[in-house]
Amino acid sequence: MSVPSLEDLGDLDGKRVLLRADFNVPLKDGEITDDLRIRAALPTIEWLQEHGAIVTACTHLGRPKGEPDPKYSVAPVRARLAELAPGVELLENLRFNPGETKNDPAFVQELIAGQDAYVNDAFGASHRAHASIVGPPQFLPSAAGRLLQREVEVLLPLRNEPKRPFVVILGGAKVSDKLGVIEALAEVADSLIIGGGMAFTFLKAQGHHVGSSLLEEDQVDTCRRLLASGITIHIPSDITVLGPGGKIGDPAAGGEVRQIGADVPDGWMGLDIGPGTAAEFTDVIMDARTVFWNGPMGVFEDPRFEAGTRTIAQAVADTRAFTVVGGGDSAAAAKQFGVDHQVDHVSTGGGASLELLEQGDLPGLEALRGAPNA
Ligand code: ADP
Ligand code: MG
Repeated sequence: MSVPSLEDLGDLDGKRVLLRADFNVPLKDGEITDDLRIRAALPTIEWLQEHGAIVTACTHLGRPKGEPDPKYSVAPVRARLAELAPGVELLENLRFNPGETKNDPAFVQELIAGQDAYVNDAFGASHRAHASIVGPPQFLPSAAGRLLQREVEVLLPLRNEPKRPFVVILGGAKVSDKLGVIEALAEVADSLIIGGGMAFTFLKAQGHHVGSSLLEEDQVDTCRRLLASGITIHIPSDITVLGPGGKIGDPAAGGEVRQIGADVPDGWMGLDIGPGTAAEFTDVIMDARTVFWNGPMGVFEDPRFEAGTRTIAQAVADTRAFTVVGGGDSAAAAKQFGVDHQVDHVSTGGGASLELLEQGDLPGLEALRGAPNA
């Protein structure tokens, strides 16, 4: 299962190295609002430069439609990178070329032209069989960068040999987004905690009323099957709801906010776990030895519905368990509530961390294992 690391690249003095990074940073009006993803690649870049390599980095940014689009230019990233890692060249957004997502062999050749080696440090993109991820290792000596290596070292043992009790906290919007990982983790975890929008499909499966809360009718049977499977699943017993006329993210629009039991009346929306549930979930988290958290417990972007996620974030920070947070919004929540430095690992990849836990492998890792130097 092991992939080649930087040490397996041989002598790099004066060699050109193509670095696939994940610099898909959040931008607002052309300004980077959080440069974590750029800083996360620095250990790999510095190692390469210390060993004499000339580094050309590449990344995707946003979702352009396979053609140049100034809105998604990497120019702001290039400017920040020049400050943090002088001497690194950055190619234009990979997704300006339709060959990237199609894994077009011609685009792979374009990318590797003039390069002597390849390093993948783009954990967040390694679940995609895109040209820049799976192409270069077919031709060049290749390695996982430090970030990718650390993600794999932290995440795979969760699936394969977690210290028990292993508690998995899942939230966010949809069951269907995360069904694969729910099913895979249900096999290895000692208990699942379900919050966020997806909790309502589980509540419905138990016969509760969900009112106007997020519901995936076509997943109710799946949730019912999971609830009956014998694994321990904790679902909310009380809920914070928003009344008719209220708008998510707009407290000024009015609408009553109430804490109720597990049944949501018609016209009301469940937008956070209630305080009783948050306390129950906290107890389970405090007794755990391993915790994986993906997905906020409520619409934490709206201060009226942040309490559940805040409490769970604090529990994840306080427990003695080894704690891992995966998922873009969950990582943002951990940061917003000031606990990001108190968890053992914040994964830089949302979809990639879930897929690695689900499948035990990623296309990008498989490609590295097939490299000529592997
Ligand atoms: P992550 O990025 O951590 O994987 P997701 O993208 O799956 O998380 O879900 C995050 C989103 O889920 C947030 O934008 C949040 O507002 C939303 N969400 C959480 N709880 C609810 C809820 N009860 N109803 C609707 N949306 C919710
Ligand atoms: Mg998200």
